[in-house]
Amino acid sequence: MEKILALLKSRGVSKQDIIECVYFLQKQYHDQLTSEKIIYYVDSVLSKREVQHAIYTGIAIDIAVEKKQLDNKELEQIIAEDYGLYGVDEVLAYGICNLYGSIALTNFGYIDKIKPGVIGRLNKADHKDQCNTFLDDIVGAVAAAAASKLAHDKE
Ligand code: MG
Repeated sequence: MEKILALLKSRGVSKQDIIECVYFLQKQYHDQLTSEKIIYYVDSVLSKREVQHAIYTGIAIDIAVEKKQLDNKELEQIIAEDYGLYGVDEVLAYGICNLYGSIALTNFGYIDKIKPGVIGRLNKADHKDQCNTFLDDIVGAVAAAAASKLAHDKE
């Protein structure tokens, strides 16, 4: 898991950023929700192999686009601009959510619309320097998945 955390960090996302997104999603349902409690769920999601593969795939595409390495320049432009009707970035994120049930999917839709914390920052980042087209959805999906697992564990 250290490898995936280091990769996320290199793209501007810390574990604390993800924890804050989970808190945003779940705070109203828990009386005493602490970072310490949320860490367990974020670690659990990030240690899953399928989740790691989705993260690696999305970030690899972002990096290839910012280095202008795609053969298909039209597609490269679409991803670089984060074209609204592209949608494959969300579909990859669903791959993470689908492992954690319907609450993860609805949480993802919500967080994608509100864009709290790091997700808003990634969205506003200058796309000339760093492409975050896949990353913002991946981070949203990891937070939504952790929130779903947390919700299911509540008595
Ligand atoms: Mg996106």
